[in-house]
Amino acid sequence: MKKEFSNKTALPIAKVNYHFTNRCNYFCQHCFVDKTKPEIPLSQKFLVIDHIKEYFEELHCKGTINLVGGEPTLSPDFGPLLSHATKQGLNVGTVTNGSALTPEFFARYGSLLSEIGLSIDSLNPALNRLFGRCDIQGKVNTREHWYRVAEQIHLHGIRLKINICLAQMNCNDDFTNFLEKVKPDRLKVMVLSIVAGVNDKLADQKPTQEQVEAFVARHKAFNPVVENDGEMQNAYVMVNSRGMLCINDQGIEKELKNLVENRLVSEDLSLIDPHKYFKRYNKT
Ligand code: SF4
Repeated sequence: MKKEFSNKTALPIAKVNYHFTNRCNYFCQHCFVDKTKPEIPLSQKFLVIDHIKEYFEELHCKGTINLVGGEPTLSPDFGPLLSHATKQGLNVGTVTNGSALTPEFFARYGSLLSEIGLSIDSLNPALNRLFGRCDIQGKVNTREHWYRVAEQIHLHGIRLKINICLAQMNCNDDFTNFLEKVKPDRLKVMVLSIVAGVNDKLADQKPTQEQVEAFVARHKAFNPVVENDGEMQNAYVMVNSRGMLCINDQGIEKELKNLVENRLVSEDLSLIDPHKYFKRYNKT
């Protein structure tokens, strides 16, 4: 029998990750996104945001929507959705591979974003290409590009998060000098997670516990937060590119409700384990 959790906690669940697009210009081998899945038109995406906003209003809190993907910043819908959500009074964050973070991007959107998560698995171009963290021409982000991006993020008062997916191939990397320069507010180390039928060809790339501990020890000055297998289960509120509320329930992704047509209500989040959720977000 499935376990349901009571969300009657002192703090509301007020962060929703909206994966509004699956499209991406990169080919990361560890990626879970099915880039062939369809997405709804912009007018329906606005409705999804409105229905999430109504849920936050009921909670009497200023909630956060993370506009994520795929690669959100390449979508023509990114600007309209960001603008729509901020006009509704929501905090908006994003997670990006950084390839489209130009000075023009910051001139247009810098004042609207509250947090940017940069996915940086390595500073070694050859290793990034091995990861598939590059475009179709093999173009990768240079260290200098990241410095310029971090400077813009800080200039605009945006919270900077850096996400590193840790595998065997990058577990000996040392980001110390880089992190000292870019000064992230949060460093998150996501241990490579293997999902059958999705990225199981990388099974031998999973780092050992000793390798994870050595990487964390090397970067302890930046208080890395480690996310292991299973920590997103029952702790991550997600809306997919078709506007469906989804929750990973003990390893099984469940589509729970169409948020184009319906409002999000607290009862929809009964599969979220509040203790796990708050532990995760307090850390991240
Ligand atoms: S940048 Fe993100 S969405 Fe794109 S391929 Fe890599 S992990 Fe997947």
